[in-house]
Formats: sequence, C-alpha cells, structure tokens
Amino acid sequence: MVEERNFVVKSPQDTTSVIRRALNSLTGNNSVIITLEKDDRIEFSASFPAYAMLKIKILSPTSVIREKKNGMEQEVSDDLPDWVEGILSCPNKNCITSQPKEPTKPKFKIASINPAKLQCYYCGRYVDPTVLVAQLA
Ligand SMILES: [Zn+2]
Repeated sequence: MVEERNFVVKSPQDTTSVIRRALNSLTGNNSVIITLEKDDRIEFSASFPAYAMLKIKILSPTSVIREKKNGMEQEVSDDLPDWVEGILSCPNKNCITSQPKEPTKPKFKIASINPAKLQCYYCGRYVDPTVLVAQLA
C-alpha cells in the first residue's frame, strides 16, 4: 500500500469547478480523492499525484499546488512528469495512436506547462492548449 499524499490547490475561482471535474475523472493508480473544496481552494489526496498535478497546471497554469506535510504546506509545482501516457489522445488523425487497429497508448512529451505545450511521442505534433483543455476538462 502506497501512502497517500495530501495537497492543497489555490486557483482562480473560475477554474475550480473544471479542476474538480478533471481530478474526479482520474482512475486507477492516478486516482485522487477530493476532501474539501472552497471558493478558490481544493484539497485532495493521491498516492500517485503526478497526473493530477499535471492536469491542474494545464487547466489553470496560475494555480499553486502545495503539499501538506507535518502540518506545513510546501509548494510542489515543479514536481511534474516529463512524459504523460494514457490521459490524452493525439488530435492527428494519421497518428499511429489514432488508428483503431493499433493498440498504441498515446504518449506525450511535456515541453512546457505555461503555456501548455505537449508533443506527441509518435508523430511529433504539438498539441494546441485548447485541445488539451477540451480533453481534460
Ligand atoms: Zn500523434
């Protein structure tokens, strides 16, 4: 059993509902539990929080994520993966990951977060931030 870590997200009020939805849609090893939500503050727990943090950063780049540890809150915004697999799909119809007969899992390199810039590992295409937001929200 991997220990759960506790986080606090401070984000602009108009992005909290979209962040909440995105966090709720994470499953499996990436699952998170939202414990408390206020106007501009979401608290959640996760055992493997990297994808949760990535989603939050793409949807709301100015939000601040802190980890609660021993009664302290510590900023963790740099604690993001270099690659992301499985939570996004490539918008390029010719990409190998878009072919129904190919069981290839989409994989993206995270080139930058603000603005969100992700590059498909297979076809090299950069995914437009609005496409990312549409897929994640
Ligand atoms: Zn692709």
